[in-house]
Amino acid sequence: MNVIIIGAGIIGAATARSLALAGITVTVVERGRNAGGTSSAGEGNLLVSDKGPGDELRLAQYASRLWPVVCAELADDLGRAFPSIEFERKGGLVVATTEDGAGPLLDFAARQRAAGVVATPVDRSQALELEPELTPAMTAAVFYPEDAQVQPVIATEALIASARRAGATFIESEPVLAGIMDALGNLVGIRTARRELRADAVIVAAGPWSGEVSRHLGARLPVKPRRGMVLVTARMPHRIRHKVYDGDYVGAVGSNDAALQTSSVVESTAAGTVLIGSSRQQIGFDPTLQVAVLRELARKAIGLFPFLGEMTVMRSYGGFRPFVPDHLPVIGADPRMPGLWHAAGHEGAGIGLSLATAELLRDLLTGAAPAIDPAPFSPGRASLAPYLESVA
Ligand SMILES: Cc1cc2nc3c(=O)[nH]c(=O)nc-3n(C[C@H](O)[C@H](O)[C@H](O)COP(=O)(O)OP(=O)(O)OC[C@H]3O[C@@H](n4cnc5c(N)ncnc54)[C@H](O)[C@@H]3O)c2cc1C
Repeated sequence: MNVIIIGAGIIGAATARSLALAGITVTVVERGRNAGGTSSAGEGNLLVSDKGPGDELRLAQYASRLWPVVCAELADDLGRAFPSIEFERKGGLVVATTEDGAGPLLDFAARQRAAGVVATPVDRSQALELEPELTPAMTAAVFYPEDAQVQPVIATEALIASARRAGATFIESEPVLAGIMDALGNLVGIRTARRELRADAVIVAAGPWSGEVSRHLGARLPVKPRRGMVLVTARMPHRIRHKVYDGDYVGAVGSNDAALQTSSVVESTAAGTVLIGSSRQQIGFDPTLQVAVLRELARKAIGLFPFLGEMTVMRSYGGFRPFVPDHLPVIGADPRMPGLWHAAGHEGAGIGLSLATAELLRDLLTGAAPAIDPAPFSPGRASLAPYLESVA
């Protein structure tokens, strides 16, 4: 089998590696440089804590099992000279700071426990033991030991290096411009300005640009950019030990509201900087770093960790999450156009979900039994149908 993947972000990279290891001939075509899209413009949280019971949580739990395994494989495969992907299962602490926020947070955790998530309510003294610098103004907190993090750019680069070693080919600086169709309406390849490539399957893994790319191929997917901004402090001695976020974050993830939403997600990196996320806005591909948004992020982070008010901000950055209106990644064959596949729409969880997405695609393409039911992620699912255009 011969597969083309459009896009060399973490989704394309992980998929290329899984397919190449399964003996499939893989060519990844990237319009810019590898790992240069959204996967280099976000954070590296691998979370189960922000997902309510349901299909995305099942995918995240599957991914959570895969990360330590793949991490060890990458270390073996690439050797000590390759930089660490900084995988760390440091755990997440979700904190409510209002009386109104406490009940919903504890209810949400109870429902997650019923779905197999380790979600342990902790009292104030236990929370302060976990995070000594946390605001004493907390009203409830839940600890999620399964939450982890990676350095997303290095993780993407490592998956690409490993995919290459397994035989995958990566072509950079060549935008895919169109698809090649046969007389029966099957997609049988792609065109760039320099070449035509043929394949048994073409997988769109173009992150927030997947809407545009799938439209060029003739079967548009409703993927839109959802802007996110992050503040980065100067390096400091480690004073934040876990991923810590306020309970509002959960509501912001699942919301369809296009207006600005912020909630605080605070974590330290191995290098000693603290990342302060994150905002969500639907403002197209507007790359402006808006001071009002950054101010809101800072204000909420100081609410969780008052000492941050004295720290220095070193920089800020932002990216575009690949948003789909029914809030589930789109993974599998497009029923409208034989030959067209998707691996897109992971919104704010694409780093975490990448490995599980890749394994599902490999199983779907090879006919192996997938570890979880892929049907909820199918491009043909009922919840996506109202947003799909028919193909002539
Ligand atoms: C502020 C912020 C914080 C985030 N935090 C987290 C987090 O903590 N945890 C988490 O799991 N996720 C997080 N995310 C989301 C995560 O970054 C994305 O879900 C993920 O990176 C998507 O990966 P991708 O490979 O689909 O897309 P990308 O990394 O964008 O890769 C797509 C690639 O397709 C290429 N492409 C586009 N058009 C074409 C074309 N015509 N031809 C060829 N190539 C093309 C692009 O150049 C790009 O390199 C965050 C996102 C943001 C913005």
